[in-house]
Amino acid sequence: MKLEKLIITVAVCGSAPMKTQNPGVPYSPDEIAAEALRSWQAGASIAHIHVRDPETGKPAFSRDLFSEVLDRIRAGSDMLVNLTTSGFNIKGQDVGRQRLIPVELGPDLCSLDVGSLNFRDGRVFENPPAWVELAAQKMREAGVKPEIEVFDMGHIRQAKDLVSRGLVDDPPYFQLCLGIPWGIDGTLDSLVEMRRRLPKGAQWSALGAGPLQLPLTTHALLMGGHVRVGFEDNLYLERGVKADSNARFVERVVRLAGLLQREVASPAEARALLKLAPR
Ligand code: MG
Repeated sequence: MKLEKLIITVAVCGSAPMKTQNPGVPYSPDEIAAEALRSWQAGASIAHIHVRDPETGKPAFSRDLFSEVLDRIRAGSDMLVNLTTSGFNIKGQDVGRQRLIPVELGPDLCSLDVGSLNFRDGRVFENPPAWVELAAQKMREAGVKPEIEVFDMGHIRQAKDLVSRGLVDDPPYFQLCLGIPWGIDGTLDSLVEMRRRLPKGAQWSALGAGPLQLPLTTHALLMGGHVRVGFEDNLYLERGVKADSNARFVERVVRLAGLLQREVASPAEARALLKLAPR
């Protein structure tokens, strides 16, 4: 059986890891775009982007920062850009509206977190159903494909409801997020079960937190899914060895894919697999 080509997403910084933990973590738009482009050269076709305060590295959410990263990546590559709508650290009145700023910038994809989640550090990742529906609608209107992030089984149920009500265009595209406390645990059993529950015809990718990144992405690769790697999920190449760039993780996936005879998708091929219009 020939599996379809592998889409590699690189999540270059996320909102949590800091330079004190790994000096390679990018903060400024320039650094973030440079990491995305290094990863593109290594074989990644999608960059998942959060932005940071360039000085402090704290999670930021400004239109200007997102816009600069998007422009820099598009100026240097044909990579697909996936902007986060998770909105950590947004303060003030209308958090839900602010979280939709990235959609207005016209990236290729935006992450869409359908369910809420307790984090181990005490934070609650709140995604109220009314916001989720609004976000799905706005993405549809803007021609931005949602990357539906699910951290647990119930999130898949909720996503299927959105799909059945026509709020998400075909094929629905899922990011299965495993091993994040307190979402689903990062085991092969969990991954198999999540995939089994996806709606028919769905495209899917998987990520694993920390040391689970390598085993889970390898399982996904063998199962015909796509993969996400990068500093957002993991800072170490192996025990005690920090990656100096996101590109190192991408290079490793490309090596594994080669050994396992799975071809890697170019950005244009990723676009076709996700049924996105050519740019
Ligand atoms: Mg993210």
